[in-house]
Amino acid sequence: MKSIEVDLSDCKLCDVCVAACPAVFRINDAGYIEVAELDEYPDAEVEDAIKNCPADCIRWADS
Ligand code: SF4
Repeated sequence: MKSIEVDLSDCKLCDVCVAACPAVFRINDAGYIEVAELDEYPDAEVEDAIKNCPADCIRWADS
């Protein structure tokens, strides 16, 4: 199954992914990016987030 990984050690908390794909990315109470676990991801929006992440730290992963 497809999932999404964010390398938090590189994440700059710039909010770009949240703006691009709020259904998947959010900043949690601890102040880190959190990825929603969904059966189906909005591919185009996730690709937008991946493409525009300035730290290049979002990627698809097989879970
Ligand atoms: S776009 Fe990348 S660097 Fe910015 S908050 Fe999201 S994961 Fe972090």
